[in-house]
Amino acid sequence: MKDCIFCKIINNEIPSYKVYEDEDVYAFLDISQTTPGHTLLIPKKHVKDIFAYDQTLAQSVLGKIPLIAQALKKVLPNLNGLNLISNNGKIAGQAVFHSHFHFIPRYNEKDTFTLKFHDNSKNYSAEVLNKLAQSISKQIKNEI
Ligand code: 5GP
Ligand code: ZN
Repeated sequence: MKDCIFCKIINNEIPSYKVYEDEDVYAFLDISQTTPGHTLLIPKKHVKDIFAYDQTLAQSVLGKIPLIAQALKKVLPNLNGLNLISNNGKIAGQAVFHSHFHFIPRYNEKDTFTLKFHDNSKNYSAEVLNKLAQSISKQIKNEI
């Protein structure tokens, strides 16, 4: 897609540090290197975010995650963990609107990356959670 920075990277119009490519995906070092080895996996097909995926695209892209994660673990000394993140939508922190998955290697408490899940469980009754789960479950069944 014209004016998409990641499409330009796939087409070699913008240079990148490529780590993997096949007919469906392209993986390269994130320029920010939030932690050493920070890598992005993107579909070659321009899709804006996860909401635009179908099953086939999901399999071809998400299916490559273990391959890349395991390679990072093997080559990066002291890698003790990995955050896998995909920001979808501006409110979720997405800045580049070509779907991508971040691989963020974790080394120790001093990593310049943080992720915090707040615990709001006390605000939820079993009844509310049950209704929520049922409505999502019903929708998933409709989509299969
Ligand atoms: P988002 O916030 O959309 O999830 O993440 C976009 C990511 O793309 C950021 O981590 C940013 O550093 C990375 N990025 C943006 N432009 C470029 C670029 O031209 N080259 C590379 N390698 N990464 C980029
Ligand atoms: Zn694109």
